[in-house]
Amino acid sequence: MRPLSLNPLFAAVGALPGAGPAFARRLERLGITRVRDLLFHLPFGWRFTTAIDSLAQASEGTRVALPVTILSHERAKGRGPARVMADDASGIGLILAFFGPQADHLAARFPVGSTAHITGQLERFSGRWQMVHPEAWKQNAPSAEPIYPQTAGITSRKIASLMVPALKAVPDLAEWIEPSLLRKKEWPGFADALSRLHNQPDSAAARDRLAYDELLASQLAWALVRMRRRRARGIALQGTGKLTEALLQSLPWQLTASQRLSAGEITGDMAQQAAMLRLLQGDVGSGKTLVALLALLTAVEAGAQGAFLAPTDLLARQHLATLEKLLGALPVRLGFLSGRDKGRAREVTLARLADGDIDILIGTHAIFQQAVAYRNLGLAVIDEQHRFGVSQRLMLSEKAARPPHLLVMTATPIPRTLALAHFGEMDVSRLTERPPGRQPVETRVVALARLEDVLDGLARHLAAGRQAYWVCPLLDGGAEGEIASDPDAAAPAVARAAMLKARFGETVALVHGKLAGPARDAQMARFQSGAAQLLVATTVIEVGVDVPNATLMVIEAAERFGLAQLHQLRGRVGRGADRSVCLLLRGESLSETARQRLQMMRATDDGFAIAEADLKLRGAGELLGTRQSGEQGFQLANEEQVARLLPTADDDARLLIARDGGLEGPRGQAARALLYLFERDAAVATLRGG
Ligand code: ADP
Ligand code: MG
Repeated sequence: MRPLSLNPLFAAVGALPGAGPAFARRLERLGITRVRDLLFHLPFGWRFTTAIDSLAQASEGTRVALPVTILSHERAKGRGPARVMADDASGIGLILAFFGPQADHLAARFPVGSTAHITGQLERFSGRWQMVHPEAWKQNAPSAEPIYPQTAGITSRKIASLMVPALKAVPDLAEWIEPSLLRKKEWPGFADALSRLHNQPDSAAARDRLAYDELLASQLAWALVRMRRRRARGIALQGTGKLTEALLQSLPWQLTASQRLSAGEITGDMAQQAAMLRLLQGDVGSGKTLVALLALLTAVEAGAQGAFLAPTDLLARQHLATLEKLLGALPVRLGFLSGRDKGRAREVTLARLADGDIDILIGTHAIFQQAVAYRNLGLAVIDEQHRFGVSQRLMLSEKAARPPHLLVMTATPIPRTLALAHFGEMDVSRLTERPPGRQPVETRVVALARLEDVLDGLARHLAAGRQAYWVCPLLDGGAEGEIASDPDAAAPAVARAAMLKARFGETVALVHGKLAGPARDAQMARFQSGAAQLLVATTVIEVGVDVPNATLMVIEAAERFGLAQLHQLRGRVGRGADRSVCLLLRGESLSETARQRLQMMRATDDGFAIAEADLKLRGAGELLGTRQSGEQGFQLANEEQVARLLPTADDDARLLIARDGGLEGPRGQAARALLYLFERDAAVATLRGG
């Protein structure tokens, strides 16, 4: 139940003195129905008025307030304004101009001989001072007035006047922010912050404080969801180390430090009853597959089954090949299932899976379809799918009597703040280094006009026995993967492949999303075996493909790709010990953003830096593939504040939940009010339901 102290804030805005039902209906168009909504409707700017004594101190274009003496009235002539002639105290003339209905009743509003305190914007007209539609005040006008986001029929001044009773209604709430943080930041209390924001133009501290409140509420809610998940009964999987140790012994190299750390975090989670929900982030080539395999083997050691999902058939098959190779003679039974498997083969796989004759099932989304029953699924690994949403997670948890552990892997180096806000219920492991011996990919931007030079270079490259990729964008400019609805979307790749075949012959392979599965696999197999040296492709090769002998990547119309995507594509080369090159072919005219993107790609190989830049250039929606903005958007905190304050809010929320998980103590109680205030009621409900 919402604390009673919050009632005044959740009262209908129409009940405020001066609001009334008609006005309340208009406010509703701004999304304002309760007093709380009105208070969180913050000014986006201020209008300043300078009080002056004489027009001698005035400059054109400024808003001023001054006392004037009314001299005479002139009626409107033709389409011109009605004019009231006035003088300031020093005798400098000023014309007050009125158009339309404003021109009525001027004689009564500005009696000749009287003094008026007028306010308005100063203009020069035919060498004289003029003010159009000045306001008259009994005394001096306010020097600063808030400007609110408005809608028809609601002026900023009306909103400001309603703010007075609304601010009076703010109850005295116990502080939920850690006292030391409050002191360090010199933030005002909640009620004080609101009052400052609506009354003082320069209130950065108050703005930060309220943004922080919102972020803290968000992260507290996530922390509560995490806590509830920990309490849910999953399957504790304690590995024996038999398989993982044998695997590690057979490898010619050592785990990197962050592989070791991440694997430890993952197996640590899996040993708990609570179902793991962990995001493994690692740049392309950082070695996520091996970490996943160690986790899968741990599950198998503990007598459970593992599932390994890849986004495309191509990648799933590659994972199967990789796992087969890595496992060698180890006693682990692998199975494979994709949407292409039909009939008898599929039946056999399903039966083996249900009988527990398969230890690890690898495949596409098909492996979680309704008809697919596991004997005892203990761990699901989802590769390259940061879009694996909540509903998909729920579907997965229905695959077993107890929710399986879940490891989601992504090469999209999601910036920390974004991960916290969007994947707040997940724990995050990061692979921050690459396996040793890798050289950074040399990246060059080349104008398409120099295509002949590029082709000559490519010819030398192929003649040396090397392989190369040539990536083309989709026809409609999208580079959204293979789901484009336009049947001709792959046309640029098809045309380019034809041109390259004319020059280089049958060593050219072509893959794109419109190619039927088996045909695509055949092309891919030719490239992987080295039979084909040049692979022309749409972005279907974006993730996961691993051909170390391919050391040249050409990306055509590179300006049409997002940064994160370019980075992913570039990650296809530089996978062996040899030097690799990435050529970004650009078109004739580039937008400023496009220029910056390509420059960024040349300047750095750091996926996290690129992701941060992509976030700035394109916004979170595109980066996460959820174009609808505001899905996780904040109402009060802007992007800059999210970046600056969210990590602290997250730490603070975790700490509070660790100390007082039930939110029973004094600060916990205050935090409950905060959660209601920002409508994270569902999270509070978990406190009892848990
Ligand atoms: P990604 O994170 O992009 O999925 P992969 O798992 O495909 O990366 O690994 C990239 C390559 O690095 C693979 O060929 C893999 O065998 C190799 N690799 C993984 N871990 C190590 C390591 N610790 N030392 C050397 N090579 C490694
Ligand atoms: Mg991978």
